Amino acid sequence: MACVSFPYDAPVSQTLFDRASLVTPGGVNSPVRAFRAVGGTPRFMVSGTGPYLTDADGREYVDLVCSWGPMILGHSHPEVIAAVQEAVARGTSFGTPGEGEVALAEEIVARIEPVEQVRLVSSGTEATMSAIRLARGFTGRAKVVKFAGCYHGHVDALLAAAGSGVATFGLPDTPGVTGAQAGDTIVLPYNDLEAVRTAFAAHPGEIACVITEASPGNMGVVPPLDGFNAGLKEICAANGALYISDEVMTGFRTSKAGWFGVDGVRPDLMTFGKVMGGGFPAAAFGGRADVMAHLAPVGPVYQAGTLSGNPVATAAGLAQLRLLDDAAYAKVDAVSAEIQALVGEAFTKEGVAHTVSAASNMFSVFFTDQPVRNYDDAKKQEAFRFTAFFHSMLAQGVYLPPSAFESWFVSTAHDTQAVERIAAALPAAARAASEATA
Ligand code: PLP
Repeated sequence: MACVSFPYDAPVSQTLFDRASLVTPGGVNSPVRAFRAVGGTPRFMVSGTGPYLTDADGREYVDLVCSWGPMILGHSHPEVIAAVQEAVARGTSFGTPGEGEVALAEEIVARIEPVEQVRLVSSGTEATMSAIRLARGFTGRAKVVKFAGCYHGHVDALLAAAGSGVATFGLPDTPGVTGAQAGDTIVLPYNDLEAVRTAFAAHPGEIACVITEASPGNMGVVPPLDGFNAGLKEICAANGALYISDEVMTGFRTSKAGWFGVDGVRPDLMTFGKVMGGGFPAAAFGGRADVMAHLAPVGPVYQAGTLSGNPVATAAGLAQLRLLDDAAYAKVDAVSAEIQALVGEAFTKEGVAHTVSAASNMFSVFFTDQPVRNYDDAKKQEAFRFTAFFHSMLAQGVYLPPSAFESWFVSTAHDTQAVERIAAALPAAARAASEATA
């Protein structure tokens, strides 16, 4: 770990973290929230407004995490809050169908052409788990191809060589996942179509599906090379397997129609979460109607959820999606490009080897000047520099993901003032990165 001192200027967060650590493993309810990779005390946030978060010690931060993607309109958007308040006043869960979930499903189907039918769930993990089950049920095959560094939630079968927290903490594999659960998972290097062809040749008639992040953001941002997604689709089609595009992170973020709106490659099934929930637990999987028809109650593949299509979550998601028009995406893209340029300039000025890697408005920094095309490349970066950079930014009031292997996220609320604050913090943070030692 790099030699950095942590400014312990967060006494209330520290007290809360001490309390949390007694009753919750590691003091957090999702590992990526811990500061394990960078050291120090996680900041406990109490409120968010626009591009800012305020912690329990009363310090304000420009937020470049945006709840790991969902808050694309910034925090506490008045129209989203109003929709939630209106919904919550009518009751919080009915366990019956309701109009809100129909409207949200209609919005998704209208935006994303390959999605003919969609089923709502409560988390991205549920979405990918269900999509895999459906693909296996539809094809009658067992094996699943995934790519190293891609994270699809904490689904047993998909935790092999996963990104996100699994990458952050360098976990080789997860105890608790049995050989039987992971034995049908084939893990391949990302952006390598030849490896995919070889796997299909080695397992004729056995592979149910290939699941890939539409454009990965969980090993840092590593976009697909030109033709990679199209090649996957083609290989799947030629071998009777389904092509599943995981758009939990990119969906409704990288364009109005997510990454499909960028590369136009038509998946058989897709998964969504994050932005479509407006900050609430709402996610979905959908795609070809003939495949979706295999789901219960129409077909034999079982899938269910007590809180699926929850009226408050669907109201939040729908309100957020309806505000996400072309102008909103143009704004997010522009502010993202501006911040990317500022970050690149700051590192260049300090002579720090780096690559700002972007997929539309998602981006991250790799501390290397070598091309990053897959997880092995990503792991070769000088991640210790990120630790120093992260703490300097934090001390100056800019909240970054506490890991060198995560995407940064911006919102329509990141205005000139927020960008100026980031710009003001960057020179010292880039210097800290340049002076860091392994
Ligand atoms: N798929 C991708 C691409 C993700 O980035 C994530 C979460 O970060 C998931 C699936 C899992 O979603 P959730 O955390 O809502 O279970």
